[in-house]
Formats: sequence, C-alpha cells, structure tokens
Amino acid sequence: MSDRRPPRIAVVGAGIGGLTVTAALRKLGLPATIYEQAPAFGRVGAGIQLTPNAVKVLRVLGLEQQVRAAAFAPEVGYNRDARTGDVTFLHPMGKVTEDRYDAPDLSMHRAVLHGALESQIPHEQIAFGKVLAGVDREGDAVRLSFEDGDSVVADLVIGADGIHSIVRHTLVGEEALSFTGRVAYRSVYRSERLGRKIDDRVKWWGEERHIVTYKIDPRREELYFIASTPEPDFEVESWSALGDRDTLLAAYEGFHPDARIVLESAPDVRKWALAVRKPLQSWSDERITLLGDAAHPMVPYMAQGAGSAMEDAIILARLLSKTDPDGYPAALKVYEAHRIPRTTRIQRAASQNKWMHTASDTDTDWLYGYDAWNGIID
Ligand code: FAD
Repeated sequence: MSDRRPPRIAVVGAGIGGLTVTAALRKLGLPATIYEQAPAFGRVGAGIQLTPNAVKVLRVLGLEQQVRAAAFAPEVGYNRDARTGDVTFLHPMGKVTEDRYDAPDLSMHRAVLHGALESQIPHEQIAFGKVLAGVDREGDAVRLSFEDGDSVVADLVIGADGIHSIVRHTLVGEEALSFTGRVAYRSVYRSERLGRKIDDRVKWWGEERHIVTYKIDPRREELYFIASTPEPDFEVESWSALGDRDTLLAAYEGFHPDARIVLESAPDVRKWALAVRKPLQSWSDERITLLGDAAHPMVPYMAQGAGSAMEDAIILARLLSKTDPDGYPAALKVYEAHRIPRTTRIQRAASQNKWMHTASDTDTDWLYGYDAWNGIID
C-alpha cells in the first residue's frame, strides 16, 4: 500500500461472527468498524453450547476464564430413547473432554457470550442502526450504502450479516432459502420450576422429533431446552417469535415423563423455523467475503453454527493481519480454500441429525480438535 493509511475494514453485522472477527482483528492490530442494523444490542433468551474448538477461540481473546465462570460444564451428556429413557450413548464430557482437546465444552446463556465478545470492542467501532442496502465495487474499494442514505468506502467488506445476508446476495446472486419444514422451540427458565432433579445434559431421541436440555450456569440455577419438530407451515426465523406450549406438548405426546416435564414447566416458549442454504464453492471476491451464517447456515443439531462463525473469524483475521490491502484478494482465496471444506462437512453432518445418537455416530476428534488460532492455514 503506497499511502500507508490504516486499512479500512468494514464488518456488516454484530452477531457472534461479526463481534469475534472485530475483536480478533483488534487483537492483531487492525482496526475495523461494524455496521449493525439493530439500534442496540438485545438479550436473546436462549442457551448456547460452545465445544472445545470454539472455547479455544475465546482463550486467545482473553475471554475463556470470564465465560467459564458464568457457564456450565457437564460431566456427561446423556442420549436417551424418547419413549423408554434407555441410554443410547453416554458422551463423556467434563475432564475427559478437556484432557483430550485441551479445552472444555461449555453451556451458557447467549448473553454471556455476547457480553464477553462485546467487551473487547470499543463502542466507537460499532455503528448501530445501519441497515445495509447495497454493496458496490469501486475499483480496489467497496462502497456500502445504508437505508438511512449514508455510505462508506472500505478496502475490505466482511459480510457477517447472517442467514439473509445482503453481502452474500451481492456475491452469489438470487438464491432461495430452504426451509427444512421443522421448527426449534426453546425456553430458558429457573431449574426450580421443575420441582425435581433431571439430567444435567440430555438429548431425547424420538421419531422425527428430539429435545435437548442442559443447564447454563455453574450453580445449575437455569436450564435451557431446544425441541425440534416438524411444522412445515411456520416460516419465521426470529429469536422473539412466541410458540404455543399446548401445541408443543401435543407434538411430544408419548415422550418419557422426564422429557415432558421440561416442556411442561416452561413459563413460555419461543419458536424458530429452521432454514439452510446449500454449501458454496466460493464465498469471496477480491474485496468482499463472508463468515458465519452468511457463508454456511446450518441446522443447530451439532451446536456448531456459532463455533464455525468464530473459527472463520480467527482464520480470516490471521490472514488479513499478515498483509496490507494489496494482499487482501490473495488472503481471501486462502481463507475460503481453508474454511469451505470444513464448514461444508459440518453443514452436511448437522443436516443428518445423527450426531451422538450412538457411539458409532460420534467422531469428535475432527471437530473438537481444530485450533483456529494455532493451526496451520494451508
Ligand atoms: P447472526 O447471529 O445472525 O448475526 C448477524 C447480524 O447481522 C445480526 O446482528 C443482524 O442484526 C445483522 N444484520 C443482518 N442483516 C443486516 C443488514 N442488512 N445490515 C446490517 N446488519 C445486518 N450454534 C452453536 O455454536 N451452538 C449452539 O448451541 C447453537 N444453538 C442454536 C440454537 C438455535 C435455535 C439456532 C437457531 C441456532 C443455534 N446455533 C448454535 C447457531 C448460531 O446461533 C448461529 O450459527 C450464529 O449465531 C451465527 O452467527 P452470525 O454472526 O453468523 O449471524
């Protein structure tokens, strides 16, 4: 770069992926600005599981201890037959996971993760209320236009704008979103509402339906469940759409009482229509790229959507930190060549919804052993 000005990196979206890439770039000495459509951060009422590959991302950002102190680390994960309660697979977690992968498997409230990532980014680096409307190449730069009439020019645009990504649309054109015909019901509430003990972490496997339940804080005071069931007529993806508890209970008729009590005790339920897109062969041009759900949306059956976004963020930040804007086109080629095979594999495996059903459905090494900060980028 001839004029030696700082690079202009624009990140669209302040979700988990956008926050992680901005925090990582900052750690590596590169400034970036996030443009987020929401007027402010909101608290999403949901839990989230971060497997060791994702926790290793937090470690280098200096956030592992802070998140760990507010999260729950189950000793085991039960997989049970929905009707009989018989264990189909007992997944050793806790110390076994940590010893094997050098990082724990943590469950937490989403606000814990968001808050930790957000704490790494000065507020002046986030522009709220900026709804991206257009992306246009201008020579070696890119112009972003917003619905409020503003526009900015950047040397590089990172589309971290989720499953309906406008940045993706610019890169790959018109594409239909595929609704899976399934919804995820969920709730977070105080464990005392159950009136008795249940497994700290369990997945109940039924025909076409399942329920995952886990505690989300070290004292086991709050629990979270996500229940996935066919509901082809519902097509709203939203963290706030309300679900009907009676409809939910009817869908889980015949499930074991220990599974049903988790649904019955919920004060309210939310629901989210699960949608996917086909894996891409390429998700960048010379100055524009994607990460997270914008690049590779997946169903949440392996708990890897956020983890994959965080991995993308670190690989991209590492590559960008080694070059100046003249080198961005080459860096983006390496980024997508490195990430697409892995994220495609995860998208496909998640769609099968077999992960951890039995011991033979559970090869965690390739997934949890990945270290985005320290691994070789080839
Ligand atoms: P998003 O979180 O969608 O963020 C996109 C951001 O871009 C948002 O802030 C949005 O407001 C902003 N934006 C969008 N359009 C524009 C625009 N035009 N202009 C400006 N800003 C814009 N993953 C896990 O790893 N573990 C789990 O346990 C897990 N559980 C899940 C449970 C459910 C029910 C669901 C639905 C998903 C789950 N996931 C889980 C997946 C995970 O939530 C997502 O993969 C992850 O949040 C994606 O992050 P992202 O930053 O790519 O996108």
